[in-house]
Amino acid sequence: MSRRVSKPFPLSDGLEQKDVANAANSTYSAGSAENKQAKEYMGDVILKGDPAVTVRVKRSARARRMSLRISRLNGGVTLTLPKWAPEREARDFALQKEDWIRTHLGQQPEAVALQRGGVIAIEGKDRQIIAAEGRRVILSETTVAVPGTAEQVSGKLKGFVKVLARERLAAASDRYSAALGRPYGRLTLRDTRSRWGSCTSEGNLMYSWRLILAPPEVLDYVAAHEVAHLQEMHHGAEFWDLVAKLSPDYKRPRQWLRDHGHHLHRYRFGD
Ligand SMILES: [Zn+2]
Repeated sequence: MSRRVSKPFPLSDGLEQKDVANAANSTYSAGSAENKQAKEYMGDVILKGDPAVTVRVKRSARARRMSLRISRLNGGVTLTLPKWAPEREARDFALQKEDWIRTHLGQQPEAVALQRGGVIAIEGKDRQIIAAEGRRVILSETTVAVPGTAEQVSGKLKGFVKVLARERLAAASDRYSAALGRPYGRLTLRDTRSRWGSCTSEGNLMYSWRLILAPPEVLDYVAAHEVAHLQEMHHGAEFWDLVAKLSPDYKRPRQWLRDHGHHLHRYRFGD
């Protein structure tokens, strides 16, 4: 027997926008039952990160939806593609379901509740959460002081990191946009798992405010990446040349996001 679940999608940590529309009708399951239908092996999708996860992709003439299955016997992850689905959708689907896959493989970083005495990384540095005397949240090199009752801590911290994120992301976007000589439109912050940032054809930028928890060069790289899309709306060679021009050392922070990005989602801000 296998277990099938249908629920809103836990999305992955890929930087780029994924097409979720086709995944909307899909199911995914964790179980041990082997599907006896004839399936054609199409190759693997590798989920980067620590550790990397190999997803075997098979095409089935009889499958009506994309589905994911995790074997209880050996932890093997198999993605089944129906006849109609293009191969690249397997990759998008696997990335969107990365959290779900890692949860069922037991690899999800442990959730961190935010309370006094606990620790939160802000701009890549661990800060102990302590009580504040006044009414404002105060950040130091090693602590973040939060006023109010114990129940208010996570909410106040969230408000604080979002304001700081906006400040840093606006400054970085302004800097790169000036260097490029192209203005951007709106700057929006969200709490997205599917991507760290995006740039629309109208020139509006969107970022995950959780980037403020990462080392500053990571936030900077994502801003350079999205601002570069104001000129190059693709990921071809010209695009990466432009990113390198704006942010010469971008490869390290890019790798950091792939390896550690999902850790930014372990903090629970109480909602
Ligand atoms: Zn991009």
